[in-house]
Amino acid sequence: MRISAITNFAYGATVVLTAMSAAAFLLSADRADKERQAVEQHLQLDDLGDELELAAEERTDEARLYVVTGETRHLDAFNGRESEEKRRESAVSDLMEAGLSALERDTIAEIVRHADDLDVLEENAVKAYQTGDRDGARQTLFGTDHDRLQAAVLETVTRFLALVQTRTGDALQDARERADTWALIAKIMLGLTALLFLAVLYFVLWRRVAIPLVRMTGIVSRLARQDYGVEVPDDRRNDEIGEMNKAISIFRENGLERDRLDAERRRDQLTKDLILQMMHRLQACQTQTELADVVALFAPQIFPQLSGELYVMNDSRTMLSGSGIWPAERQQRPGSFAASSCWAIRRGRPHVSGADHSDISCQHIEAGDMTCICVPLTAQGDTVGLMCFEEKVPSDETARNAMRLYLELIAENIGLAIANLELRDRLTKLALRDALTGLLNRRSLDEALSRDERSRSDATLACLMIDIDHFKRFNDEFGHDAGDEVMRHVAQVIAETAGETATAFRYGGEEFAVLAPGLDETRGLQLAERIRTAVAGSALQRRGRIIGAVTVSVGMAIAPSAGRGNDLLNRADTALLAAKAAGRNRVMFSMGTLADERAQQAG
Ligand code: GH3
Ligand code: MG
Ligand code: MG
Repeated sequence: MRISAITNFAYGATVVLTAMSAAAFLLSADRADKERQAVEQHLQLDDLGDELELAAEERTDEARLYVVTGETRHLDAFNGRESEEKRRESAVSDLMEAGLSALERDTIAEIVRHADDLDVLEENAVKAYQTGDRDGARQTLFGTDHDRLQAAVLETVTRFLALVQTRTGDALQDARERADTWALIAKIMLGLTALLFLAVLYFVLWRRVAIPLVRMTGIVSRLARQDYGVEVPDDRRNDEIGEMNKAISIFRENGLERDRLDAERRRDQLTKDLILQMMHRLQACQTQTELADVVALFAPQIFPQLSGELYVMNDSRTMLSGSGIWPAERQQRPGSFAASSCWAIRRGRPHVSGADHSDISCQHIEAGDMTCICVPLTAQGDTVGLMCFEEKVPSDETARNAMRLYLELIAENIGLAIANLELRDRLTKLALRDALTGLLNRRSLDEALSRDERSRSDATLACLMIDIDHFKRFNDEFGHDAGDEVMRHVAQVIAETAGETATAFRYGGEEFAVLAPGLDETRGLQLAERIRTAVAGSALQRRGRIIGAVTVSVGMAIAPSAGRGNDLLNRADTALLAAKAAGRNRVMFSMGTLADERAQQAG
């Protein structure tokens, strides 16, 4: 019930109780008045009876004194009493009008009648005395008739007084009881009013208003300090305090929502700042490793709720190789897998492999409890890699959709950065390597020789110059393509034989160079001989036809004895010419073949 309704009800009840109490008091007062009237009437009638009795006695006394003494003052007193008697009689008749009972009236009439009879008897006696019959007058006044009448008057008065006594006593008792009853009712009413007031004071003002107000004041103060963590109790009362509580609760919820939106906005801004920072650094990356490091550093800051891996596509766009992983505490390096095993790569758009298996899962993902999101990295329509995210804690569809925009933005930028690096690698490769054989080109050889020259070290460096014998013949007999194939074959054999110890270059035409740091004459000649025999030992076929034996001539010079840089190269070239001149398919060091050299040393 609303407080205003309770207050109005209590107010109405108090007014009614007060009015009833006042009415009871008025009734009680009225009864007290009646009681007083009854007492007054009783006293009046009592006095009247006494007076009637006394007056009759006094008049008789005066008449008797007159007839005994003959003094006229007694006669005068007798006559005076008579007029007083008349006045008393008229008062009696007035009284008879005012609420006397029939019996009382009859009794008064009887008193008056006896008194009148007594008066007549006494007046006759006085008259007889005045006419001289003194004895007769004395006998009348002291005789039995007179005594009888006088006794009758006294007895009637006594009876009247007894009647009055009984009646007024009852009235008095009744009035007193009623007055007491109404006074009691009035007191009860007053008591009830006081109780009602106290009940309203306790239950409404204290329990339903004061206590909740004090509690709400504390809550409102904390809300005013923007402390929205304060708990607003669930008060479902359907009154003003309940409405106030509801309003405060709504205010708090609005504050919480505003806080949440603020936090979201700040988080959003932080994410955008991080993405921007990452983009700037991605653009400055020079290698895939640097790129992977940048991604592995920023991705966990941007998406703290996700762990992830970065994969880069190979040149033939068939395999994805792991390039980065985050967060840092994850030890296992990502491996490689076929590009076709990822649904995101196949579909060209982000793919969610849900832990709930609501969608088909990528084959490269191990079945687990966590949901994985694969985002393909594309640049100009070409898929260059993949980012694979795993939720650390399960999130819902809404949170995933909120992340999706940023994931795609990041993926686009990383894709572009990878494509840029690949382009850069390709351009570098084109600048440093020969397109036909894949070996480093002459420019690279010049750089390597000048690097060695600049190093000013005393370390040995073997330089081999290799030329394919009668190469022109392949071109002429089998065509230029076959010539290219022979070139690629010889280049591959040279590179494989050189292995890790030496670097092979295409010098130009069908000529190659090999630089082998740290090799002396003996080991240099061994390497040259290995290359020569490896080429000579391989049979080359083209479309089922044997192309024929391919041989190479090799000239070798060793730094520092043969000089460094171009000097070294020229000495090796001279040795090569010597090998050609000596009949080809041989190795020459300085001016002789290996066999000659050994023979010279033996001789
Ligand atoms: P020699 O044993 O004296 O070295 O004889 P040769 O035939 O190998 O030497 P020559 O200098 O007479 O011929 C080299 C030929 O190599 C000339 C040229 O057409 C050919 N040639 C140079 N570069 C290429 C190439 O990239 N591809 C093909 N198919 N042929 C090339
Ligand atoms: Mg040649
Ligand atoms: Mg040549």
